Amino acid sequence: MLTDQQILRIPGPTPIPPSAERAMSQPMTGHRGKNTSELISRIRPGLKRVFGTQQEVMILTGSGTAGLEMAVVNTVAPGEEVLVIVTGAFGDRFAKICKAYGIETHIFEEEWGKAADPVEVQRYLQEHPEITVVFSTFCETSTGVLNPIKQLASAVKEVSDALIIVDGVSCVAGTETEMDAWGVDIVVTGSQKAFMLPPGLAFIAASKRAWKKIEANPQPRFYLDLKKHLDNIVKDTTPFTPAISILYGLERVLELFEEEGLEKVYTRHRLMMKMTRAAFKAWEIPLLANDEDASPTVTAVKPADFEAEEFRKVMKEEFALELAGGQQHLAKEIFRIGHMGYCSPADMLQAIAAMEIGLVKVGKKVEVGKGIQAAQQVYLNEGKVLA
Ligand SMILES: *Cc1c(COP(=O)(O)O)cnc(C)c1O
Repeated sequence: MLTDQQILRIPGPTPIPPSAERAMSQPMTGHRGKNTSELISRIRPGLKRVFGTQQEVMILTGSGTAGLEMAVVNTVAPGEEVLVIVTGAFGDRFAKICKAYGIETHIFEEEWGKAADPVEVQRYLQEHPEITVVFSTFCETSTGVLNPIKQLASAVKEVSDALIIVDGVSCVAGTETEMDAWGVDIVVTGSQKAFMLPPGLAFIAASKRAWKKIEANPQPRFYLDLKKHLDNIVKDTTPFTPAISILYGLERVLELFEEEGLEKVYTRHRLMMKMTRAAFKAWEIPLLANDEDASPTVTAVKPADFEAEEFRKVMKEEFALELAGGQQHLAKEIFRIGHMGYCSPADMLQAIAAMEIGLVKVGKKVEVGKGIQAAQQVYLNEGKVLA
């Protein structure tokens, strides 16, 4: 088999568009020079559109978790009380960051595989008026669940002045994000998921309300000081050397979003989700999340009568197609399919047809053709939305 072909169907890092690859191979340039500041000035408006905000979107060199930590250290002082909504491993990570900084961390945990219920979160806040910040995960990548951020934000606002901070790492640019309209105070995302770039950049924006709290917050910070990043980004620069090559890729990716149209980008992700789910339903293999909670960027599957890990191994060996495993207590229970970023319905037809063979190889009794047919039918019924 081809030894350099890899089909990456994990929820990040994701494949990179060839034109972005080419953009990233330009000669290096100085980070204080005109090239870089002009590049940043071209990037800023596009990033704001993806976030759905008029506020500045800061560019941090670091992985997504650096962005999460940045959100924590800038807004909360040690000893303050916060609420973390945990629907899986990434909610858990937010809680761990808070605890690491000596923050009084309340946990509102939902069964993994389900979305958080805004009404229950609201009730929790009413019982704990001392909470000043609510942390939540938009797409919980570990379970393939999309939390209802718009509804959560409005439920929080009805009963509390707490800031609403959202980890959007695996779905901003893959699903509609309206930070300002939804009243979200901080959104964080990273480069290697729906932004279809290499790992290395995190993006973060803060509301006016959040800036007030950030400026009053005595918590020490240096590299992650948001105010320092804000003062620089408005001058088309960054406080420290950014990952310049990835910025060139980012410029190209933002152009691709504009060319396709952001609405179409989101519709394409939903269509890929529906195709994937239709195939597993046709094979009668359980999905972890129900249709209502399912994320457009990643699907988690919980097989009942074959081993998830064996299936992943077969897919890798037969087709060089990489799927992700589960995390924490779901480690061997589930596998996950990424369908985000540089990924099309045609790519999903490939993955689904290949998975059908993989299922036969692990001894799962499926009628060959049934899953791919279900996915094809979804495309035939709904594919015109992408035209
Ligand atoms: C990938 C991911 C992160 C960040 O992970 P890094 O490895 O630090 O880039 C954070 N939150 C969610 C929801 C993710 O999917």
